[in-house]
Amino acid sequence: MNVTVANPIIPLIAIGSYTLLLLTAFTRSDRHTRQTRWLFAFLVISILWEFLVYFSREIFYPPNLPSKVLLIGTTFLGVTSALFVKWEQRKRWFLLGGLAVFTTFALDIYLPAQDVGIPYIQRSISYSDLFTTVTWLLLSGAILSRTWRDYRRTTFPWHANRLLFWVIVLLLTFTGEALLFFHYTGLTLAGQIVRFIGVSGLTYAISSHRIIDVRNRSQSVVYFILITATAALPLTFAIFTVQDLTRNQPFAFVYTMVAVVVAFLLYPPFRRLVEKTFNRFLVGEGIDTNQVIRHYSQAIYQILDVQQLSNVIVGTLSELLNTRQGALMLVTHTEEGYEIDPIPTLGTITKNKQHFQSDCLFIRSLVQLHQPLLQYELDFNPDYAQIDRPVRDWLNEMAMDVYVPVYTGNEMEGLIAVGPKASGNTYQPDELELMQILADQTVIALQNARLYSELGHQNERIRHLNIDLVNQNERLEIMDRVKSDFITIASHELRTPLTQVKGYTDILQSMNEEENLSREQTREIIKHISRASNRLDSLITAMLDASQMDTEGFHMVFMETKLEMIVRMATEPLVSAMNQPHIRFETHGFDGLPPIYADFKRLVQAFSNLIGNSIKYTPNYGAISMRASLVPSQDEVGDYVEIVLSDQGIGIDPKFHDLIFEKFFRVGDPQLHSTGSTKFKGAGPGLGLPIAKGVIEGHDGRIWVESAGEDEEQLPGSEFHIILPVRPSNMTETNNTTLEKASYLIG
Ligand code: ADP
Repeated sequence: MNVTVANPIIPLIAIGSYTLLLLTAFTRSDRHTRQTRWLFAFLVISILWEFLVYFSREIFYPPNLPSKVLLIGTTFLGVTSALFVKWEQRKRWFLLGGLAVFTTFALDIYLPAQDVGIPYIQRSISYSDLFTTVTWLLLSGAILSRTWRDYRRTTFPWHANRLLFWVIVLLLTFTGEALLFFHYTGLTLAGQIVRFIGVSGLTYAISSHRIIDVRNRSQSVVYFILITATAALPLTFAIFTVQDLTRNQPFAFVYTMVAVVVAFLLYPPFRRLVEKTFNRFLVGEGIDTNQVIRHYSQAIYQILDVQQLSNVIVGTLSELLNTRQGALMLVTHTEEGYEIDPIPTLGTITKNKQHFQSDCLFIRSLVQLHQPLLQYELDFNPDYAQIDRPVRDWLNEMAMDVYVPVYTGNEMEGLIAVGPKASGNTYQPDELELMQILADQTVIALQNARLYSELGHQNERIRHLNIDLVNQNERLEIMDRVKSDFITIASHELRTPLTQVKGYTDILQSMNEEENLSREQTREIIKHISRASNRLDSLITAMLDASQMDTEGFHMVFMETKLEMIVRMATEPLVSAMNQPHIRFETHGFDGLPPIYADFKRLVQAFSNLIGNSIKYTPNYGAISMRASLVPSQDEVGDYVEIVLSDQGIGIDPKFHDLIFEKFFRVGDPQLHSTGSTKFKGAGPGLGLPIAKGVIEGHDGRIWVESAGEDEEQLPGSEFHIILPVRPSNMTETNNTTLEKASYLIG
């Protein structure tokens, strides 16, 4: 690109103009951001370039220096564009341009003055020249096409406008530079002018965050030209006609002059008429703001539901402004700041609540300005550059174009968020003003709806509380019944074995008196008495345990022990009880468990109660399984073991899942007396589970039951879950010593 000077004055004028531009940009932008600094660098390079163009005849080395400087300028423009358009890889442009500049200099050194010999071009073109031109072309093409691609992709009209403006000014700059290829005075001058206009546009765009609405302005210009031409054309035609008709008349000139005067007088009303007709047929009737406000106020007047209110406001706005996305957002002032709760209405909007600090720039500006805030402002106005990352992410997720505050005077009640127009047009000041008026109209309705919905929530809460209360009441009633059942159960439970002891003793006595008691009979009777007294003993032990559990809690002796052993000890006495009804019992996962610290005897007692119950409530040929697994620690709590005891029995009604762990509670009739500890559905004193729970909680563990319900036909079964920490946290120093002693004794 051998830029020679067709007219030496042009570069001098250009130097002055670019310097003026630099000074204006410098004084205009109060905050020199990175993009302004890169633009300044670009302007300085432009001035330098013009200097070199001016002196290009005198400077011989390095050859064709102005083009190389221009390439540097294009590199700087690439970085400025990357910052302006917010491209991710900004350094890439700098590296690419830098490499290109470096290569041109290298080519000058290694292939000096070698003519490439391009056909039809008379001038001699070196490799370096060709490379400079091609890289300039590629670089500027890349910058332009990347901006164009972004322009096509963006859905936000103001963002699109900014990109469109940038595309236009880049195009002017590059076209101007390209025109300088030709060495005709006219084209060089045109190139300089076009480039200067382009660069002025670049400077304007960088130093002012709000850019003129390109589409709107061009539409207005076309519209103006169209109306003026349409209005002037018939009048001009009339003047010419008069002139033509009166050509041969004596006062032809006077007639023509009269026609001109009449045309001038007629022009303004005629133009107005044309404008009106155009407006009606091309532009359409404008929005009748008063009517919109009146209709809107009537529509929201009696609404008491926030969702419905949101539907009306978003519906009105979408109809008026042709948008496909919108929502009302409830704003609540909390102690920490603000909570924003979007009510999705139109388009895809996330329902997630968002918390904002009270000093959040986004909210603060809405409160202070009390006017719509464009997403464009939030993105490009340097005043909002400090907005936090999470707030920005939330705004991006919302993908709205404008936020309008619903403001009561001292408190923000809500936000109306509106998406971009479907037409791609920008929101105009009068439309934004209308949005704010509608938002102001919404205040009272929104307050009412929020109060009403709060009332609804309170009612719902009260309803839940009532349900809870009913449940608690039912539970209390059951517990009360359990208390009175206790006497029945206890007396039944104690009387059964006692009656047996008494009966057999009487038999023994009378047979003895009749002296017909054989040894065999004596052994049989004593066996029955011993079994009954054992049952009595275990019942009293259970009752004493239950009372100890209540008064002082179990005294635990922790020692290192294996769960597998505990389960074996608990099941051994129950084996015969399982054999007869052919109940299958299996264990899984116990052998891989580490030893745990536990009270061996108490845990055996707890497990034998649980397994005994499973046997009792599982019919013949059923199965019982015990699965154990180690759950590794997720925090400082430590590892624990989970044991699941499942049976294929009759199951337990969910409403009793808590109650069965209460003392003396039993699901069935309290009048039923004990029928043995393992007989199918055999009633017991209702102490097995409470004791098991006491023991497990004494180990810092937890127990609960899961079952679909009670059903003797379907047999849904029950699952008892037991969680035991490997090392209980309530294991005190004394316990530790006891533990050591115990291990020592066992060892
Ligand atoms: P009991 O001495 O009556 O067996 P528990 O405290 O051991 O008392 O059990 C309380 C109640 O829990 C029992 O009456 C029974 O209704 C119910 N229950 C306990 N385990 C099971 C089980 N595995 N399947 C069904 N019901 C069970």
